[in-house]
Amino acid sequence: MVRYVCRQCERLIGAYHGDWRDPALGLTDLEADEGEEVLQFNDTGEIVTVKLLCENCLPVPWDMNLWYN
Ligand SMILES: [Zn+2]
Repeated sequence: MVRYVCRQCERLIGAYHGDWRDPALGLTDLEADEGEEVLQFNDTGEIVTVKLLCENCLPVPWDMNLWYN
């Protein structure tokens, strides 16, 4: 199972009730590249949480400190 969660507000964006290794999801490519930051596995490795930005948070710059400096 794959859970898509906003990394900013932690809102659950969506879920995929299948194997996270499904090639259609492209997550296995992520794992090799930037996956360590984006993908979080539970203890059994069967539930994967994918950290994304939801549409509410997308306009927020990645570097939040930019606004306060
Ligand atoms: Zn959000």
